[in-house]
Amino acid sequence: MKERLDSILSEGKKIIEQAKTLVELQDVKAFLLGKQGSLAEIFKEIPKLDVSLRPEIGRLAYNLKEQLVSRLDSRREEIQLKSSEISENFDFTVPGVSPLSGSLHPITQMCYDLNDAFRSMGFEIFEESEITSELYAFDKLNFPPEHPARDSMDTYWLAGHDTGSPETKLCLRPHLTGASVRYLQTHKPPYRFVYPGRVYRNESTDARHERAFYQYEALIVDRNLTFSAGKIMVESILSKVFGRKVSTRMRVGFFPFVEPGFEIDMNCLVCGGTGCSVCKHVGWIEIMPGGMPHPNVLRAGGLDPSEFTGFYINIGLDRLVMMRYGVDDIRLFHSSDLRFLKQFN
Ligand SMILES: [Zn+2]
Repeated sequence: MKERLDSILSEGKKIIEQAKTLVELQDVKAFLLGKQGSLAEIFKEIPKLDVSLRPEIGRLAYNLKEQLVSRLDSRREEIQLKSSEISENFDFTVPGVSPLSGSLHPITQMCYDLNDAFRSMGFEIFEESEITSELYAFDKLNFPPEHPARDSMDTYWLAGHDTGSPETKLCLRPHLTGASVRYLQTHKPPYRFVYPGRVYRNESTDARHERAFYQYEALIVDRNLTFSAGKIMVESILSKVFGRKVSTRMRVGFFPFVEPGFEIDMNCLVCGGTGCSVCKHVGWIEIMPGGMPHPNVLRAGGLDPSEFTGFYINIGLDRLVMMRYGVDDIRLFHSSDLRFLKQFN
């Protein structure tokens, strides 16, 4: 029996040293110490030995087991250490694989650029919930009751909230302007603030229209505010965003919440004003509506229209981004197509 134990030990040491990988070592361990292993046979036979021999053989067998376990442990450490060493064949000059890095969506980047430009001119950034009420979407903005924009063809009304009261009849905001009234109600004049965000319209989509799109509105309200101060603000912002001088022109426009209202065009940056396909050969691009807040809107915000005047603009973020990168289909920006979006990294 002692000879068998000696032979298990010498054979065990040999095959442990021969194991080159952790998998091989696992097999060796099973062979030596497993339920069907050679040592297990010895333990099974001990009860059958003469009583006088059992204590000594038992002690030797346990001792052998401990030696094998210790050998297996140190061999495992050796294999692990070796596998973590850098091979002498390792080529440090082969270029590595650079990790994938994300980037801001071009619309988000434009929004941040506008935020920076407005902040540098002393504006506050104001954000509000995308769900609003009929009261703030229409009533407080001087929309007459029969105005077509109130029709469900344009606005997404929330099911189960058609309560009959404009205050609790809820919708996805069809525009941002309602947020301005809430801001006027909760802050003290004079006001200089912007309110960016996504708005929703139930419209058919085409190259220039999406059902969900971004707006970026800015409002100044002050005593003795002049119209030209507003125009200068618009040109300063656009020049900062595009990094070159931008001129604007204004044409008469109509929106219920402004009086007077106008459409602001900027000179086409693609052709420099000489005419191209982007500007439909007129040299100007319609970039945003604007106007002076209607007296009823100022009243809804708690201001006296005989004391305060304002200047309001609604910047089409998508339109500006299209202009910045010369992309002519708005739907590409909302497509989540990484092949398209990675171009702006
Ligand atoms: Zn042009």
